[in-house]
Amino acid sequence: MSKSCTLCSTSRPVLVRCQIDESQKWHFVCPGACWKKVSGGVEDAKGLEGEFPWYRYGGMWKDRSADGPVSAKKPRKVKERQKEEARARAGRDMGGDEDGVEDVDT
Ligand SMILES: [Zn+2]
Repeated sequence: MSKSCTLCSTSRPVLVRCQIDESQKWHFVCPGACWKKVSGGVEDAKGLEGEFPWYRYGGMWKDRSADGPVSAKKPRKVKERQKEEARARAGRDMGGDEDGVEDVDT
């Protein structure tokens, strides 16, 4: 999945996430020309607040699918889901009712 620059609509594998205007909406702009246009080419537009009062840097966006073949490792999301499913199964096997479990000190 690739995203395109909200300024020039060019689709790119890497974009800079930033706020650039009073709408405070997150934009995704080309790390090159478009970003320089909205930030002055300075991360956080330091010292350029007068020129770019709305600019706020929000990190880089990367197209993961553009990274080439994915490693054989399972994505963390899948692993976590499987762990959770295993936990749920274990809970059922033990006849436990997670919702009703409370630490009663008697
Ligand atoms: Zn652009």
